[in-house]
Amino acid sequence: METVSEYFGSLVFDDRVMKASLPAKVYQSLRKTIDEGAQLDISVSNAVATAMKDWAVAHGATHYTHWFQPLTGITAEKHDSFISPSPDGGVIMEFSGKELLQGEPDASSFPSGGLRATFEARGYTAWDPNSYAFIKGKTLCIPTAFCSYGGEALDKKTPLLRSMEALNKQALRILHLFGNDTVKCVRTSVGPEQEYFLVDKTMAEKRRDLHFTGRTLFGAKPPKGQEMDDHYFGVIKPRVAAYMEDLNNELWKLGILAKTEHNEVAPSQHELAPIYTTTNIATDHNQLTMEIMQKVAARHNLVCLLHEKPFAGVNGSGKHNNWSISTDAGVNLLSPGETPYENAQFLLFLCAVIKAVDDYQDLLRISVANAGNDHRLGANEAPPAVVSMFLGDELNGVLEAIETDTPYSGTEKMQMKLGVDTLPKFNRDTTDRNRTSPFAFTGNKFEFRMLGSSDSIACANIMLNSAVAESLKIYADRLEKAEDFETTLHEMIRKTIKDHKNIIFNGNGYDDTWIKEATEKRGLLNYRTTPDCVPHILDPKNVKMLTSHKVFSEAEIRSRYEITLDNYCKTIIIEANTMVDMARTEIAPAVEAYALSLARTAAAKKALDKDILCGYESRLVKKLSALTDRISVKTDELEQALIDLKGIEDIGEQANAIRDIVLIKMNELRLACDEAEVITAKKYWPFPTYGDLLFGVK
Ligand code: ADP
Ligand code: MG
Repeated sequence: METVSEYFGSLVFDDRVMKASLPAKVYQSLRKTIDEGAQLDISVSNAVATAMKDWAVAHGATHYTHWFQPLTGITAEKHDSFISPSPDGGVIMEFSGKELLQGEPDASSFPSGGLRATFEARGYTAWDPNSYAFIKGKTLCIPTAFCSYGGEALDKKTPLLRSMEALNKQALRILHLFGNDTVKCVRTSVGPEQEYFLVDKTMAEKRRDLHFTGRTLFGAKPPKGQEMDDHYFGVIKPRVAAYMEDLNNELWKLGILAKTEHNEVAPSQHELAPIYTTTNIATDHNQLTMEIMQKVAARHNLVCLLHEKPFAGVNGSGKHNNWSISTDAGVNLLSPGETPYENAQFLLFLCAVIKAVDDYQDLLRISVANAGNDHRLGANEAPPAVVSMFLGDELNGVLEAIETDTPYSGTEKMQMKLGVDTLPKFNRDTTDRNRTSPFAFTGNKFEFRMLGSSDSIACANIMLNSAVAESLKIYADRLEKAEDFETTLHEMIRKTIKDHKNIIFNGNGYDDTWIKEATEKRGLLNYRTTPDCVPHILDPKNVKMLTSHKVFSEAEIRSRYEITLDNYCKTIIIEANTMVDMARTEIAPAVEAYALSLARTAAAKKALDKDILCGYESRLVKKLSALTDRISVKTDELEQALIDLKGIEDIGEQANAIRDIVLIKMNELRLACDEAEVITAKKYWPFPTYGDLLFGVK
């Protein structure tokens, strides 16, 4: 049997394959494009395309596709075969440099948020040579960016690459100021931890809510939930272990560094974490991981639920975006250094992040906004909707000492004076285990914990990279003009701490008193829902920042606003329609059937002996009838709320109406149905219950 190191990356056209299959000159030229972003020559791309095609065909591929990430949040592909007719009636397998570099999919069915009229249907895809091509099934997949004909980004990769470039540019300015002349580029890296649920497929298929929406829209609390805390890090069940093994193999073949796996807090919830890598590659890999998780699940007669809140009453799923900045020489800029001078540079980067998170709390909140995540944030299982930062005691002590010009009384007592030489030396913080902070420093990286489990990590990283680029730009502008570098640096660090310490919170983020303090005393933003936060992407300060770093054009920002809200509305409308349908055609009839059987029993008993007491039947029938009545009324009300939506043109107003009316009506209907569930005989209930689903995988 092949060992992991033998088959790892076997389906990837990676550096090893390139080196082995390309002429030396072509290889060097391609490396230059990958490492330094140099323009690719057409002769080089022809050679690369041929080598890629030969390698793919040798691995059984018959087709190729430009693989891209439209604004739907999932990936898209259109397959073309390599075949080309030959004069003798046969075919040869062909793939040109032009086909590698650029594709022209019909873009009209992808959301564009008004960026592209449907008559102008052409969009084009452009190869991202940084992210290796890979084989999926019988198709060679080429990671690409997706733009409209006018050049506007219709995807998530393009702005992500732009944001990485913006951060690179500003970080280089800072590093040059610190005397680093050899650094060529600065990149961000991400390790996204992915949570998910596994449920039995045969059971899941009986639930139309899971089928249509990925979450349960009905379901009473099971007798046992997560209260025993016996699942977290618990023994992995055999069926799940077999799934994880199969999943790892598939991911490893695709060069995805799947590393850690364990059970999560809720029953049947699990987590997978890869080893971190460059952000755009991590993003591609996370998209692929989500896709493969679902595919492999089907092979094991399981369904992998990636929804943020598949079950009410038990924890939902998120994604932790572990993020750091490093140079091409592998120096992590968020790692405290050995010397005071290195520490000054570290502190400046740290301050850049603090300032960025405070100044752009709203953009970070927006970057994780979707209908599913609204159920999690602030629900005592995930960070609140208020963005704050955790730094740990040691760093906090250092920052306080700098701000107040007092001796730092950490591991070493030290008098704080102006100037780089006197910034304190301190060790990597090892004490951090705060799990409730939305944005935590964890020794040499930040962990952004607000992301939803189904979301692409692109959006969060676009906003994070851009906001940090903006802080660095402001610092570089000042430092480049400074007469006394060290004094200016020290002053800037001090001022940042003073101005932005409100965003730092080291206590329990799940505590209600924190929300009060955050909003009332500290003036931090608290956008509870998607419709609350998304309009703020259009705030002038946000538009100015994002456009000035060329991450988005104004039209592109507007399109993200439209698409995010449109997506929110559509998601909830589908959920509401599914509820109406299930309540009417499954739940109400089931409750009625049970009531009828009780009534028949009572009638039969009375026929035997008219004096027999039928208190049980009659009380229950009464309760059930009252509930079917309520279910029917609530179903009609929800349906009416959906009809009323049709009169609302503006997407922002529609989203508000959904938040204020539809969601409430959905909840009322659910409550009535859940009440009916617990008093209806199990054999009448039309689909598997929470207990069945959550404890059904052995
Ligand atoms: P925890 O559950 O304690 O947060 P995990 O081991 O599950 O830790 O996940 C940590 C994640 O952080 C992994 O994906 C890991 O690769 C990633 N990571 C570690 N160091 C860095 C770094 N310097 N930059 C970005 N991500 C990192
Ligand atoms: Mg984590």
